[in-house]
Amino acid sequence: MDIADQAKRIVAGERRALARGITLIESARADHREQAVALLEAVKGAERQALRIGLSGTPGVGKSTFIEAFGMMLTGQGLRVAVLAVDPSSTLSGGSILGDKTRMEMLSRNPNAFIRPSPSQTALGGVARRTREAVMLCEAAGYDVVLIETVGVGQSETMVAGMADLFMLLLAPAGGDELQGVKRGIMEIADMILVNKADGDLLPAATRTCADYAGALRLLRKRSSDPEGFPKAMLVSAITSDGLDAAWDEMRALVKWRKDSGHWDTNRTKQARHWFEEEVRLGLLARLSEGEMRSKMERLGAAVAAGEVSVAVAARKALDGG
Ligand code: GDP
Repeated sequence: MDIADQAKRIVAGERRALARGITLIESARADHREQAVALLEAVKGAERQALRIGLSGTPGVGKSTFIEAFGMMLTGQGLRVAVLAVDPSSTLSGGSILGDKTRMEMLSRNPNAFIRPSPSQTALGGVARRTREAVMLCEAAGYDVVLIETVGVGQSETMVAGMADLFMLLLAPAGGDELQGVKRGIMEIADMILVNKADGDLLPAATRTCADYAGALRLLRKRSSDPEGFPKAMLVSAITSDGLDAAWDEMRALVKWRKDSGHWDTNRTKQARHWFEEEVRLGLLARLSEGEMRSKMERLGAAVAAGEVSVAVAARKALDGG
């Protein structure tokens, strides 16, 4: 593959080139990895920034419907929108809750949108990398908004929040008056809670749920990276599109505040450092299963098993090159 040419096509906004670039990033082959690194370096010069929005919610709350409606609204305003999915379940089952092709039918046909389903069977550590790098390619390709969607399981929210500028939690109206078992940690990373399905018969329940969460959010410690009134809870309907423009206005207001106050840059810098360290950590871990290190571990492991050397001494030897 001609990397320079590929990079040029991505920056020129060719969707097929972008899709191929992401496929390259997802590949586990060592030679592909080298090309992927070269590609990321080659597109860096584009110096483009998208608004990265993380969106989380359990299956059934209406993520696909919301993204379809929200994405159509944004593209209707002349913005280009990319959608990436992080589906940790696909790592475990090989199947994907987020990946089926019938989702977001209108948006997927929209020339100003790019939708990439979650790949199945990516190694857990690889999910973060491939998503982060796919985000970078989408930014280089000139997308104005990159939506990173994830289901509310495991560590995926924290991971997605760690690569997003804004993090949205999508909820459905609750039957009773109890908070829906949303973990406190997720409330703490959410910039906005959107209570979806605020339409028809569900409107009263949605309104109650929204008030409950607004109350719960007020009890959380105010973050220095937030202006007054954030994080906030709002009502939306992905079906009628009610509340979507209001939610978008709030997102933009928050972004503007963070940019003006310097928190936007600080956050991106912090994220870059985090992912750099994470990448090094993954690389070091990978080395444990490679060639010389692997045989050394085998050798020392056998010595430990035979009682010839203590765990502490063997571990030090392994690390020190003894
Ligand atoms: P996901 O699993 O989170 O992606 O959820 P889906 O987008 O597939 O939606 C799950 C179900 O909720 C579908 O039957 C949708 O039609 C329905 N749904 C989604 N958004 C709304 C909404 O705003 N109002 C109502 N009444 N139903 C909705």
